[in-house]
Amino acid sequence: MRYISTRGAAPVLDFEGVLLAGLARDGGLYVPEHFPAIGDRLAGWRGLSYQAVAFEMLAPFAGDSLSPATLGDLIDGAYGSFGHDAVCPLVQVGPNDFLLELFHGPTLAFKDVAMQLLGRLFNTVLSRRGEQVTVLGATSGDTGSAAIEALKGLPSVKVVMLHPKGRVSEVQRRQMTTVLDGNIHNVAIEGTFDDCQALVKTLFNRLEFRDKARLSAVNSINWARIVAQTVYYVTAALSLGAPDRPVSFSVPTGNFGDIYAGYVAKRMGLPIERLVVATNRNDILARALRAGDYSTGQVQPTISPSMDIQVSSNFERLLFDLYGRDGAVTAGALAGFQATGKLALGANVLAKAREIFDAVAVDEDLTRETMAATLRRTGLVVDPHSAVGLAGAAGARGERAVPMVTLATAHPAKFPAAVRAATGIEPKLPPRMADLYEREERYAVLPHDADALQAHIAAIIG
Ligand SMILES: *Cc1c(COP(=O)(O)O)cnc(C)c1O
Repeated sequence: MRYISTRGAAPVLDFEGVLLAGLARDGGLYVPEHFPAIGDRLAGWRGLSYQAVAFEMLAPFAGDSLSPATLGDLIDGAYGSFGHDAVCPLVQVGPNDFLLELFHGPTLAFKDVAMQLLGRLFNTVLSRRGEQVTVLGATSGDTGSAAIEALKGLPSVKVVMLHPKGRVSEVQRRQMTTVLDGNIHNVAIEGTFDDCQALVKTLFNRLEFRDKARLSAVNSINWARIVAQTVYYVTAALSLGAPDRPVSFSVPTGNFGDIYAGYVAKRMGLPIERLVVATNRNDILARALRAGDYSTGQVQPTISPSMDIQVSSNFERLLFDLYGRDGAVTAGALAGFQATGKLALGANVLAKAREIFDAVAVDEDLTRETMAATLRRTGLVVDPHSAVGLAGAAGARGERAVPMVTLATAHPAKFPAAVRAATGIEPKLPPRMADLYEREERYAVLPHDADALQAHIAAIIG
């Protein structure tokens, strides 16, 4: 498989190349040249394990970069670390409503699903090449801990992870800062998540430094992560009768990585009726997909902080398709967006998007009410992100005869204060993490300044 940039001016790469590159050199994101078709094969995948479906989904994207035996071993290793045999189990919460639990990995959020595999892919490819990289990432909470958990102790990787100071939950911060392996470097930035993300982009665009430090990314722009996230859309749909029956998904959305994976699965031939983008009150995507108004505002802190985002990086991948896969047009639109903070989607583009997507912005009160109501109706305690998804599912247009699957993206114990306030219940950490609040923390604090960050990283790599 060959991969091209959404901005049309970066080298074409293979799977190994995009795995290590992260962001393309023209500032765009890598996407496959075409989407492999799975429609004819789906019926034959019924009853397969999660790992077996993962192998089928990943193999065409990996192409010649990995042997089938190696790919199979990496998948088995990644999902062996999960606390549930089904890896991503499906739970019924209403007559035709389901929750897909994506939080059974080591850091209790859905990002483990992709990251456990990505860490192993990195290690395999880098060891084979005898190379070292510096993974530079920005996290609104869950990406960071998932990346650190997946990359800690690997000799070929140093990790520099930025988080917005004071804007991630204590559990999220401690899951990152209590990992004391020598290759892990946490940095609290005095700013928002978007500031952190902008710093990462700035350093990636300083090409000389980027090459010298061998910068690499594992955040949700990495194509391998997207592919790993397509798998649970397929397993959930198969459980509910695909390919004979369509399924809809409601996805708590921030950076647009998770729901874009659903879009990829649909493009590959999975019968998805509708994809519901569920946002919190940081509603840029809801405005974009409802009214064509993709324009940033101030980030507003919420009880679902992993979605407190105004610029959704992966949305560029969808735009590229909506603009007919024209790299120059996509680059022009995004240059305009960068300059003005605004991008108006034309009527055609918006209509195309709305054939597949619906979008619902969920405010804080409705998020809390949804947590309380879910407990009352089902006995289940859900985290605030999953509650945004459930409220999005309830508020979306569409055919109620089609099963609706809401992605449960975090374990409630990751957000204990918000869960307690909404439900009166104190969610407990699983036994393997019970001493998290006693562990030693280590992190640096830096201003929102690219030169300061560059100097910090230069000192780390020596
Ligand atoms: C990252 C995250 C999201 C948003 O996913 P995107 O791929 O950024 O849209 C939702 N919920 C939780 C718990 C997350 O960690």
